[in-house]
Amino acid sequence: MRRSAAPRGLPNRKAALFKLTVWGSLELHTYPDARSVVRDIAPDEPVILNRPHAAARAARFFAEKFPGKAMYAVKANPSPDLLQILWANGITHYDVASIAEVRLVHATLPDARLCFMHPVKTASAIREAYREHGVRTFSLDTEEELRKIVDATRDDEGNAATDLRLCVRLRVSSEYSELSLASKFGVDLADAAALLQATRQASDWLGLCFHVGSQAMTPFAYVQALERVRAAIADSGVVIDMVDVGGGFPSVYPGMEPPPLEDYFAIIHRHFEALPIAYNAELWCEPGRALCAEYSSLIVKIEKRRGEELYINDGAYGALFDAAHVAWRFPVRALEDDLVQPFEEFSFYGPTCDDADFMKGPFMLPGDIQAGDFFEIGMLGAYGAAMKTAFNGFGAAQAVIVEDEPMASLYTGERALPVTDNVVSLR
Ligand SMILES: *Cc1c(COP(=O)(O)O)cnc(C)c1O
Repeated sequence: MRRSAAPRGLPNRKAALFKLTVWGSLELHTYPDARSVVRDIAPDEPVILNRPHAAARAARFFAEKFPGKAMYAVKANPSPDLLQILWANGITHYDVASIAEVRLVHATLPDARLCFMHPVKTASAIREAYREHGVRTFSLDTEEELRKIVDATRDDEGNAATDLRLCVRLRVSSEYSELSLASKFGVDLADAAALLQATRQASDWLGLCFHVGSQAMTPFAYVQALERVRAAIADSGVVIDMVDVGGGFPSVYPGMEPPPLEDYFAIIHRHFEALPIAYNAELWCEPGRALCAEYSSLIVKIEKRRGEELYINDGAYGALFDAAHVAWRFPVRALEDDLVQPFEEFSFYGPTCDDADFMKGPFMLPGDIQAGDFFEIGMLGAYGAAMKTAFNGFGAAQAVIVEDEPMASLYTGERALPVTDNVVSLR
């Protein structure tokens, strides 16, 4: 940093507001924006910036506009603060995938409806979820898992539960998504009829679900999947109470500007309505990324510059897992006032001693950025802030609340990546 990094006395009035988190002991400062955080604390460790207003806006959008029920996929970001925000803004259902997520959400939101949507669970996790946390909805993609669920939910006399709400996960294509979820889970269409018939016998309420992969860049991904749902229903001849189109709803990143979410909702609704199902069958979705991507960004510090490579204090084992492992390009903006050179392409090294702690980018920053400077990495609320580990002694990060807008938004009426010069220069 060229300017003095010394804190300038007390933060301004707004920054002096405190918020008590659900952990009770942590007090989150509120600042107007990232620059004021840097001016105030010149942080040596990365700082997570949370934007409750952005998560609230996303939740209200799904609660009001999705033509069915929107269930939050907790793995995208399990922060209790975020869970509270989503709940307060109309998200009543939560897709949990592990017993730890079940316990966390049940403790944080005791009245929320939890759905255990991981198709491979342990018997003890199923039993605890059913008996202690009120979970009734479980997904599965094999007859083995069906038997496991039926057995784990028997009462002490050995009677099978009569209130199970089971969801058969269908394998669908991920060809329209940036991150595939096609190979791991889901019953093939050829085997779906038998599994649906067996599951119908064991359940009070039967759903069909799928996942088109994360960051689906066109609503057509769901059309193709719903065609497969239609075939599965026709083959099996069973009554379906619910169709769950899963996650995959996109956010905005450099080089990835999706169509409006309203287009996704309209197309999904139209194709759902045309399915051979009862008039009162329900439509669900399971957004993860779309509900929380805009919630968080991160302030990082440059420790060293080597040509176009910046050594920063967060990385592959921190909030930048996707930037490293799938070369995801997050938007960035410099937080210094005195940078004058045109934008250049940079890549980043994280703080650990592992060569894999490398983020190729390219990330656009002013050419004269240097060691000691700070910059902000945007759109890290989904699969970012939630991925931090303590590997190699790094991973500490303070969190604060900021009041400015995320670097891009699908919910402000203007979807394009707008806000910063460096982002615009990527288009
Ligand atoms: C990860 C996941 C989601 C959320 O996916 P996004 O692409 O973040 O919307 C939803 N459902 C299931 C079963 C998942 O595994």
